[in-house]
Amino acid sequence: MNRFERLAAPGVRGLKPYVPGKPPEALERELGVRDIIKLASNENPLGPGPLARAALEGSTGKVGLYPDGGGHDLRSKIAARHGVDLAQVTLGNGSNDVLVLLAETFLTAGVEAVYSEHAFAVYPIAVQASGATARVAPALPAGGAQPLGHDPAALLAAIGPDTRVLFLANPNNPTGTWLDEAALDALLRAVPPEVIVVLDEAYHEYATGHGVPDGTRWLRRHPNLVVTRTFSKAHGLAGLRVGYALSDPDVADLLNRVRQPFNVSLPGLAAAAAALEDRAHLEATVALNRSGIARLREGLAKIGVGASPSAGNFVLADLGRPAAAVNDALLRQGVIVRPVGNYGLPNHLRVSTGTAEQNERLLAAMAASLATVP
Ligand SMILES: *Cc1c(COP(=O)(O)O)cnc(C)c1O
Repeated sequence: MNRFERLAAPGVRGLKPYVPGKPPEALERELGVRDIIKLASNENPLGPGPLARAALEGSTGKVGLYPDGGGHDLRSKIAARHGVDLAQVTLGNGSNDVLVLLAETFLTAGVEAVYSEHAFAVYPIAVQASGATARVAPALPAGGAQPLGHDPAALLAAIGPDTRVLFLANPNNPTGTWLDEAALDALLRAVPPEVIVVLDEAYHEYATGHGVPDGTRWLRRHPNLVVTRTFSKAHGLAGLRVGYALSDPDVADLLNRVRQPFNVSLPGLAAAAAALEDRAHLEATVALNRSGIARLREGLAKIGVGASPSAGNFVLADLGRPAAAVNDALLRQGVIVRPVGNYGLPNHLRVSTGTAEQNERLLAAMAASLATVP
């Protein structure tokens, strides 16, 4: 019973907080388990690269000062990398921040936002908090080429006269599915120009080998397109919280009105700018992930667990039965993965790729868990 709920904004009433991957410290506290591996939050098992580490260390003596609220250096480097204007770049405290800024800017009671079933959990939270109404498009069937993935036709059908925003992740988390260039091109052409399309490319760096397009190529053709990226995933800076949006300057201008003046920290700005230059670390990360995805899929298949192809740094394991007990057994062995019941997937677990050693430990623990759980 929350005594103040009736005082809360309507969108906040009944809202459930985002459930993050369990921190290792929490597992140690709760079950006394030691030697824990966490493959639950799609973090980079290599962590930050050497350039980002050096920049981070170099920044610590400066944290008595506020960061550059305009993020000029990082925004210039991002703009140069993507061949866009500085005025098209909006920084966020993680791309999560940018997603919330978009909801704050374009959503309110009486309008609608569209996203797919099994889409990233932040979309429903941001939409509901804004007071807007969510229209959830049915996902593709489990048996097809992109199992449980976004269905462009269903997304289009969910768009109506009150729709302000369409959220879509490519590739999607937690399904690992993607839309190819032709599908995305056609979808963008079909969406009315007064609907803001938020194309969430948090896993883009991992996805290029699958023919997943770089959505920034359509920014000029579609002023209603907003592409979001993050330093949390392939760049290995999840703990620093840095992400960004690329958009038409007029959209960026609106986001900048609601953005907190110092939403990215000084160490975050410094490390992200350095990470952008570290091609070698990015290549090592992507290569490690490619072998990790293959090994996890093959190893899981051997113990009777299906996992579809994934363009991200995780696989969605289908246990074919309620996953909660298997997840508990994994936790007791010190292996943290992600239950996805809150994504409407109670029989699945999402497993991030780790180091080769961590992947083997996951596979052994999964086999043991399946054998002990009736
Ligand atoms: C991880 C993730 C993000 C953003 O994470 P940040 O750390 O806030 O940048 C955004 N979208 C999807 C689909 C993700 O999985």
